[in-house]
Amino acid sequence: METRTPLIAGNWKMYKTAAEARETAAQLVNLVTDADGADIMIAPAFTALESVFMVISGSRVSMGAQDLFWEKEGAYTGQISAEMLVAAGCQYVIIGHSERRQYFGETDDTVNKKIGAAIEAGLKPVVCVGETEHERESGQTFSVLDKQVKMGLKGYFVEDLSDLVIAYEPVWAIGTGKTATEEQAQEVHHYIRSLIEDLYGNAFSESMRILYGGSVKPANISALMAMADIDGALVGGASLDSESFSRIVHFKIKK
Ligand code: PEP
Repeated sequence: METRTPLIAGNWKMYKTAAEARETAAQLVNLVTDADGADIMIAPAFTALESVFMVISGSRVSMGAQDLFWEKEGAYTGQISAEMLVAAGCQYVIIGHSERRQYFGETDDTVNKKIGAAIEAGLKPVVCVGETEHERESGQTFSVLDKQVKMGLKGYFVEDLSDLVIAYEPVWAIGTGKTATEEQAQEVHHYIRSLIEDLYGNAFSESMRILYGGSVKPANISALMAMADIDGALVGGASLDSESFSRIVHFKIKK
């Protein structure tokens, strides 16, 4: 079986000015110098990208953006292109976060276009999928994920997707303090990996990282990471503080 380097990613959402983000990023860089078992990424707000890049560049910490627009340039007021993100120092981009789906009209179709733009610019897409509480309770978890994954990746070939990361984020666990149990998360991660295997073959599905997101904290990361198909975490609230994010980065693998 392929070994997948864990990725611990922090989504800073609409928190922190450029100065605040730079300060947290600088603290984090110092706290994770020894964390060589995992890739580390933080995704500050667009306005903080350049200042964060100044302090992370050359360190163990990479940077991502929280969204992008699929066109290269043009009269699209308020939007940011993949090339602009690359120029600001991003290596990753989060796509299809549930907050974007819930509040900003993100659909599987827009996710699909954004994945293409990210790949073309050389950004690693972190594509978020996940069911709502109602969908889980009514037994639709797998059908929802099936649709989100298949529509999001529609039209792409395995050679396009070498940098793809999928983040399973049950909507009912984001920012609520409710975490999926490690068994619940593992069941879904295994399902997603088998979907990817059906679409793109075994070698690719075994190499692709699937992150868990939803109230990940220093106290629950180790148990989650012990699961066979959990390859890292997308962390919201607990990534805003450099100490707590660093403790998550330093999880002890029990696999
Ligand atoms: C997220 O924003 O992707 C997230 C999982 O948030 P939290 O960790 O706060 O639940």
